[in-house]
Amino acid sequence: MDAASHLGVVVDLSPTHWYLSSTRTQHNARPLSLKSFLSHLLVFLNSHIACKDENTLAVFGVLPGRSIMLYSSTSESSGNPLDKADANTYRPFKVLDATVMRTIAEHVENLGPSDLEIPGELVGALTKSLCHINRITTTSSAHANGQTASIDPRILILSVSPDQSLSYIPIMNSIFSAQKLRVTIDVCKVYGSESVFLQQAAHLTGGSYLHIDRADALLQYLTMSFLPPPGIRQLLSVPTQDKIDFRAACFCHKRIVDIGFVCSVCLSIFCQPVPVCSTCRTKFPIKTLQRLNAARPAVTTPTAAATPYIRSPASLPSSNAIKVGAVNGSQAAARNGLR
Ligand SMILES: [Zn+2]
Ligand SMILES: [Zn+2]
Repeated sequence: MDAASHLGVVVDLSPTHWYLSSTRTQHNARPLSLKSFLSHLLVFLNSHIACKDENTLAVFGVLPGRSIMLYSSTSESSGNPLDKADANTYRPFKVLDATVMRTIAEHVENLGPSDLEIPGELVGALTKSLCHINRITTTSSAHANGQTASIDPRILILSVSPDQSLSYIPIMNSIFSAQKLRVTIDVCKVYGSESVFLQQAAHLTGGSYLHIDRADALLQYLTMSFLPPPGIRQLLSVPTQDKIDFRAACFCHKRIVDIGFVCSVCLSIFCQPVPVCSTCRTKFPIKTLQRLNAARPAVTTPTAAATPYIRSPASLPSSNAIKVGAVNGSQAAARNGLR
């Protein structure tokens, strides 16, 4: 654990889903309220800055329609000068706890009833976290003057909301940026159904995706799985994903598809055969379209989701044709590059 470690935390603060998480139902036997979640989270964040003096931390909040920075250990104004010193509290812990809670309270109080329908801006928070990492890695390498100043950056996403299929392409682009910056993305699904996109984010950046079974033991999951930096995790038995949902969202309707049709030129994904690719304007032969339409299954089976298969495109002309088969979305989008 020689290198200092930077942790970016993206906290999903969606009011609707936190309300659902705190309500005891048949399917939610161990409810977790936002208040108890935050008390678990603050202990975890304190542990991270206590692990090593040089460790840095940035916390971002996901709110309906926007994302905010809740705390950054590198910014000058992170401490309130009016805070009185407390003999019983380690000052960095106090500053962190007070800043996070104050910023959340300020922003949550301003939410109106109309905000409850708006989806959370997860991509915004993820992108801000990546930009922040980019800035501190550039500054730290400039300071080190050519020496290897590794800060071992990683991002932890604490999610309670379901996937927004509209954000498939921006999330994939964030994953590619994370790969370029060598940032590990960890995902802790605190409440709700599995997230296809976040599973792919963790898988493609070498992070862990954990859907917790017992929300009341959140702190234990966080400390055991996400406190050790990725280098140490190889020595520990950190829970890994046994299956990853590789489905992609189509570019036309932003729906998650089981079987997609991929443009052979730019690799855009469509849910049905199209005469002209909407991304690169390539025209496809009418015969190919007819054959593909004839070959489509009559009923789409949503259960075949987790097993991607590639049907051989050998029978199709090599260029200007559409490949058929369930697509591995990340590969296809990877070839598409950053948009
Ligand atoms: Zn579509
Ligand atoms: Zn195309």
